[in-house]
Amino acid sequence: MEEFDVIVVGAGIIGSWTAYNLAKRGRSTLLLEQFPLLHTRGSSHGHSRILRKSYVDEHYAAMMPEAYKLWKHMETSSGISFMKTTGHLSISKVKYGHVAKVRRWCEKLKIPHSTLDSESLNTRFGLKFNDEYDVRNNAQTTDLNTCEVFYI
Ligand SMILES: Cc1cc2nc3c(=O)[nH]c(=O)nc-3n(C[C@H](O)[C@H](O)[C@H](O)COP(=O)(O)OP(=O)(O)OC[C@H]3O[C@@H](n4cnc5c(N)ncnc54)[C@H](O)[C@@H]3O)c2cc1C
Repeated sequence: MEEFDVIVVGAGIIGSWTAYNLAKRGRSTLLLEQFPLLHTRGSSHGHSRILRKSYVDEHYAAMMPEAYKLWKHMETSSGISFMKTTGHLSISKVKYGHVAKVRRWCEKLKIPHSTLDSESLNTRFGLKFNDEYDVRNNAQTTDLNTCEVFYI
């Protein structure tokens, strides 16, 4: 029977990335998946995902500079261009404080951003928000992917 240094169960993004890095480090690695790839029954599966720097939780925000580098590495090493840069709006009702947290981590981690009041938001994006909302616009300086997210 063939033996492996490590057996990883589940070929979603976490298992695939783990197995990929183990193999790169010279470990003989077996990655097991219960469904035929490319199946659609896991969280990682589907046509698109958001990659963003603006998070309510600091630990996610803090991971993103490294995550962006790793995704860029995947794009370069695979030779497949799969990331598309867009703007990113974080929108929440002020009373929920989501954007205030996003702002706090953007400031702490020195992520470029700007705050829009409802008038400039409406003018720029053709939306209809009032001052109940607090908006964060992530001006991306990298060539990586972001997308619109609404915390309402
Ligand atoms: C609808 C949706 C949208 C999302 N959108 C985003 C987004 O835009 N941006 C973002 O950053 N995150 C997003 N997430 C979260 C992100 O997709 C997940 O955090 C991430 O994909 C989890 O990866 P995973 O490898 O842990 O799990 P999964 O992708 O679920 O992979 C687990 C794999 O393990 C396999 N498996 C399980 N048990 C066994 C077993 N016993 N034997 C063999 N194989 C097994 C499963 O079949 C599956 O393929 C989204 C999640 C969902 C559900």
